[in-house]
Amino acid sequence: MENGTDLEIRNLVVSTGGKQILKGVNLTIRKGEIHALMGPNGSGKSTLALTLMGHPRYLIEEGKIVYKGHNILEMKADERARMGLFLGFQYPFEIKGVMFSHLLWNAYTALKGIPTEDGKKKTPLSPLEFRKLLSEKLKLLEMDESYADRYVNDGFSGGEKKRAEILQLAVLQPEIAILDETDSGLDIDALKIVAHGVNSLSGPHMGILLITHYQRILRYIQPQFVHVMVEGKIVRTGGYELSQELEARGYNWILEELAKETVTQNT
Ligand code: ADP
Ligand code: MG
Repeated sequence: MENGTDLEIRNLVVSTGGKQILKGVNLTIRKGEIHALMGPNGSGKSTLALTLMGHPRYLIEEGKIVYKGHNILEMKADERARMGLFLGFQYPFEIKGVMFSHLLWNAYTALKGIPTEDGKKKTPLSPLEFRKLLSEKLKLLEMDESYADRYVNDGFSGGEKKRAEILQLAVLQPEIAILDETDSGLDIDALKIVAHGVNSLSGPHMGILLITHYQRILRYIQPQFVHVMVEGKIVRTGGYELSQELEARGYNWILEELAKETVTQNT
């Protein structure tokens, strides 16, 4: 086990807008592992995702994030991306005026490029080779070639935006991928395509944190670990069967169990 490749989250306490959202999160993700993070709305899942990527809106009050042996808390989002972290947004941005193929080409060059003497980056692929890679990945996600030449997410449906996030994942091939509710807003056919895409990209070279509210996508992308977040803490960790239990029973039983545990602790 190469310890330096793990993403380790230790006792992470995070606030935003003066409100404490994450209240001591512990989680380790290794390459080759698929972790699902589930939990009721508002429990802090997106806060964790955006904090991992270095969004400036979130204030780290305590704890640390160690990646490949480095504490990355002081690093900006682009540095984290260069180290191999990737976030697929729950709410992808629209960028009018920027073509998808250009965004991907620039991101690819920034991430995989070889620094040259004049301070620029030399891309390991020629524009033509890159276009070939892009075409392959578009095919994988059953997206028409024309998406590449449209403005980023401009006029895309909710489902198309989610698919486009996975297209970015496919092209950029990160080492740790955080996918924030990539399943929400997808119909069953689109869900299967996205799941197939993620499955064919995953493997021993990639760790995945799959954030989801629903068990549905986990039937197609099977996690080894399922974590449940409630009010800014991971309160349960189990295997795939935990997600099935959540599907059958909802989240309330966990909340009830937690309430009982608190009562017991106080008596
Ligand atoms: P989830 O992704 O699990 O649905 P979020 O991380 O999006 O949860 O939100 C967690 C909590 O943080 C929610 O109660 C939300 O209202 C709150 N929150 C998110 N952003 C802000 C903000 N900018 N200011 C204050 N509270 C916020
Ligand atoms: Mg969220």
